[in-house]
Amino acid sequence: MADQSQIQSSASKSIRPFRSSEEYLEAMKEDLTDWLNMLYDLDMEPATFMEALETGYTLCQHANNLNRLAKEFREQYSDAAASMKLPQKDVTFQVKGAQPGSFVARDNVSNFIAWCRQELGIPEVLMFETNDLVLRKGEKSFILCLLEVARRGARFGMPAPTLIQMEEEIEEELRRGRRSSDQRGYPPVKRPVQPPRTICDLKNLDELVREILGFCRCPSQFPMIKISEGKYQVGDSNTLIFVRVLRSHVMVRVGGGWDTLEHYLDKHDPCRCQFVCECTPKPAKTSGLTLPKTPEKPEQEPITAQSSRQKNPTSQTNGVKKKKQFA
Ligand SMILES: [Zn+2]
Repeated sequence: MADQSQIQSSASKSIRPFRSSEEYLEAMKEDLTDWLNMLYDLDMEPATFMEALETGYTLCQHANNLNRLAKEFREQYSDAAASMKLPQKDVTFQVKGAQPGSFVARDNVSNFIAWCRQELGIPEVLMFETNDLVLRKGEKSFILCLLEVARRGARFGMPAPTLIQMEEEIEEELRRGRRSSDQRGYPPVKRPVQPPRTICDLKNLDELVREILGFCRCPSQFPMIKISEGKYQVGDSNTLIFVRVLRSHVMVRVGGGWDTLEHYLDKHDPCRCQFVCECTPKPAKTSGLTLPKTPEKPEQEPITAQSSRQKNPTSQTNGVKKKKQFA
């Protein structure tokens, strides 16, 4: 699990120049890798994540495990289950002959996709296509879909990836904030005991935030005020964001999705996006970070992720170390 030095070094990593705007996907991929390794005793690496799943075998196995959990959930919590979309129909898949790229593998993946669509009711915007996985044509679509599968499963008892646990934590905090007026939410769910999460202590998180924020070169520093542990008010718009550390990534919950703090600041801190901010603000364009849930506050993005990358005044020459996992 994360120790102090690893967390500390993650700050310098997250402020390296020209970090990919898709880094949040990398963080998700790492999280999903650890999660599936834990669930199915696999030995996947984030780098081989797509290859490891392209036969469709693990995916279909997971689908059928979710069906089984959903059945147990339905038996135990019939009232709650009545208002939920729970999967039932088993996925047929083959192990024999499921070599990567084979017809059998494609067929497995295709069956999993149909299950996601029909049994889980995952909306089209979060779906992927067979070639996204098999031909690596849409890694992002695949990752976002798998994360949604994990999110759905967590509602009826499947252990969740860390990112989903963080989402639940944040949702719970938001619910507490509006408890008296709005009792929306999922029914109480009996869950298997999740392994304790040791992401970071929150003092450490605040240090990381300050370090990343410290690269601001505005005449007066871009405001990011700590409201409570892991919760900050940013900019002049009173926008509230939740920040968490996920392995080597400092993540921000924005709307219904996640971004990295560094990339978030690229889009909001004037000195980091001045080359575009000085121009006439363009209409907001989503960068694909936000999942199609109702955002807490609408994101206003006068610039695109791409443009803010081109000339980043925070360029540093930090050595970029090879990513190291700790599990
Ligand atoms: Zn600044």
